[in-house]
Amino acid sequence: MRILIVEDEHRLSNVVKKGLVEEGFAVDQAFDGEEGLYLAESESYDLIILDLMLPKIDGLKVCRELRSKKIKTPILMLTAKTRLEDKVKGLEVGADDYLAKPFAFAELKARIQALLRRSHNEAEPVLKIDDLEVDPLKHTVKRAGASITLTPKEFAILEFLVRHKDEVVTRTQITEHVWDYNFDALSNVVDVFIATLRKKINDSFKKKLINTIHGVGYKV
Ligand code: CA
Repeated sequence: MRILIVEDEHRLSNVVKKGLVEEGFAVDQAFDGEEGLYLAESESYDLIILDLMLPKIDGLKVCRELRSKKIKTPILMLTAKTRLEDKVKGLEVGADDYLAKPFAFAELKARIQALLRRSHNEAEPVLKIDDLEVDPLKHTVKRAGASITLTPKEFAILEFLVRHKDEVVTRTQITEHVWDYNFDALSNVVDVFIATLRKKINDSFKKKLINTIHGVGYKV
């Protein structure tokens, strides 16, 4: 899952980024509203963390602008203010949730997972397909009850595929949602990751859950 952080406090942005990267997210940063708006419009994000008070264009305006352009990416608004009217305003312009600063990283993480679940219409925190169980919070994978160890990137790819089950997911979509802005899209690294992922998830099981759709992409 790929997240955009729009926050002008570099230190806070970097701390949040570090935490999210450790959780397996791909993360891009924007340090003012203009840059945030540009990235949100031109890249594919699964979620946007948007600060309210920003240089150039404030968070409310960024949010309103994105929604008016039919960009439906879930937005978690950060606010230094605890005044009720700011929260209400944020939700009115189309933010999906808000979090008052200062916050604990654990709470941010829980809010993010809840928003991702909501945006994918998932009722349960643990994603299940057949005998495969993927837990985005604990980062665990089980098949037929047995634990499977994945690297963070393998996990991120599997989570993306499982969240788009029954859909054909292209290599470009995987690249866009699992890697950040600095990723070299021409490399064949996705195929390499998919190959090892398939080995871990499919091998020794009769039913192959990760399938290649030739010339198009992959499907779970
Ligand atoms: Ca700010």
